[in-house]
Parts: sequence; structure tokens; C-alpha cells
Amino acid sequence: MARNLTSKTVEAWRFAISFLVDRERSNAARREFWAQGSDKCAGILNDLGLTRTEFDDAMRLPYASEDLLTPAMRSVGIDPDSFQTLEAVRGGMSRTCMTCPHRRQCRGLLAAFDFENHYQDFCPNSPGFAKLLEQGRT
Ligand code: SF4
Repeated sequence: MARNLTSKTVEAWRFAISFLVDRERSNAARREFWAQGSDKCAGILNDLGLTRTEFDDAMRLPYASEDLLTPAMRSVGIDPDSFQTLEAVRGGMSRTCMTCPHRRQCRGLLAAFDFENHYQDFCPNSPGFAKLLEQGRT
């Protein structure tokens, strides 16, 4: 019982620390972004299809400072540097990823090398991945 309580406490501490580290990283990334100047930032946000408010909201999501799209693509067999992929990223995949409500689950599965077995159940970019995989076969 006491051991179970201790392991739960340690788990809670680990979660709290990882949450705080993640928040700090995201806040730093957000500050760095806006430090580029409002004109440049407005251009980048326009390219991404995000308003300033949407960007700020996205930066509050888990692991907001991390690129999850590139490793997700690699894990399902998509070349993130191909012309079609880069077009898809510009066409909205990046935006979808930045505003995705499943970032914590996604990152956990990527870390466990298990994303490819589950992403179709929750990843909002799943249809886009299917299209790219199909294009890769033709
Ligand atoms: S689950 Fe969300 S964060 Fe992960 S690749 Fe898909 S859209 Fe991006």
C-alpha cells in the first residue's frame, strides 16, 4: 500500500516536472517567435493560416514547441522532404498539427515507436497521410 502510494506520488511529481519543463519551453519558443518582429510574424502566421489568437492558443497545447509532424510522417513511411509532402504541409497539415488536441497522445506514441499502429484512430492529419502514401505509390 505504502509502496503503491510512493510510486503514485513519484509519477505525479514526474508529470508535474515534465509539464513545467514543457510550459517553459513553449513560453520560450513563443517569446522567440514574437521577437522576430510583428511584420515577419504576421507573414509566417499568414502562411500557416493561423490568426494571432489561434497561434497563442496553439502555444498553450502540450509540447507546442516540438515538431511532431515530421516524426509522425516518418513513422508512417512518408518522406517529409518530398515535393508533395512540402505542398501538403503548406496546404494545412502544419496548421492541423499545431492546433491538434491529441498532441500528448501523439508524442507518447511517437516516443514508444507505436504511432504508426494507432494514429488512424485519432490523428486529424490521418486522411492527409493516406493521400500522401497513395501518391507515393503512384
Ligand atoms: S496526432 Fe496531431 S500532433 Fe500528432 S501528427 Fe497527427 S495532427 Fe500532428
